Amino acid sequence: MKFDIMTLFPEMVSGILSESILGRARKAGLISVTCHNIRDYSENKHKNVDDTPFGGGRGMVMAAPPIAACIEDITKNLPEGERRRVIYLSPKGKVLTQAKASSLLAYDRLILLCGHYEGVDQRVLDEYVDEEISIGDYVLTGGELPACVLVDTVARMVDGVLAMPECFEDESIASGLLEYPQYTRPVTFHGVDVPPVLLSGHHANIQKWRLAEALRITEERRPEMAAAYRAAHPPKEKKSRRKRTAETKE
Ligand code: SAM
Repeated sequence: MKFDIMTLFPEMVSGILSESILGRARKAGLISVTCHNIRDYSENKHKNVDDTPFGGGRGMVMAAPPIAACIEDITKNLPEGERRRVIYLSPKGKVLTQAKASSLLAYDRLILLCGHYEGVDQRVLDEYVDEEISIGDYVLTGGELPACVLVDTVARMVDGVLAMPECFEDESIASGLLEYPQYTRPVTFHGVDVPPVLLSGHHANIQKWRLAEALRITEERRPEMAAAYRAAHPPKEKKSRRKRTAETKE
């Protein structure tokens, strides 16, 4: 999976995406991340990339020409048939979810545009951008952190990036529940013991405890998520004694 990130502040992005699991995935060639400095595409002699908004108002707006030139440059020699999507990170976009991130795995390349200041000239969005994605109902100073969030959540689902795929299938949100509490050594910390069932070695009981805890936490923190989970996983009906006897006779 390839990610191209268009930004005015490439260092903000490249640092975050070079560390830990994603850094290793890049080195292993499982994903590629290329940062493109929009300023390099400014034809202005001072390399300006923004201007005051038409109609007045506060702040500056990122101008269309350098962004358009940057996208054209990224896409000019790409292989035919490559499935790609241009995404503008924006508080006006649809809010990112695990399901949305999974759907983006269908593409070979995601081209991400990071806005700054008051945003981006609408004409470049209308011409080049396939969709706008927000990382939540709050406003940040720029699209760099949102782009990193998007790359992280998509990239960790790329085959081979996580040692065990069940790492993400099993955890909060993807499983339909918030995750159960996790513990590691030492067994006693500040006088508090690890729940004994986790030391029992009894796999079925551990699974039962984890599901019960996940349900309890989800009920507490995200009742709507717990309700959706219960609706999708109705309790298995116990066969009545009479029915069982009849079945045995047959
Ligand atoms: N004036 C814009 C508005 O009211 O919609 C906000 C611009 S914001 C200060 C600057 C840039 O940060 C945006 O162009 C966008 O790229 C990014 N940004 C801010 N909040 C975001 C969010 N919640 N999700 C994704 N991107 C965001």
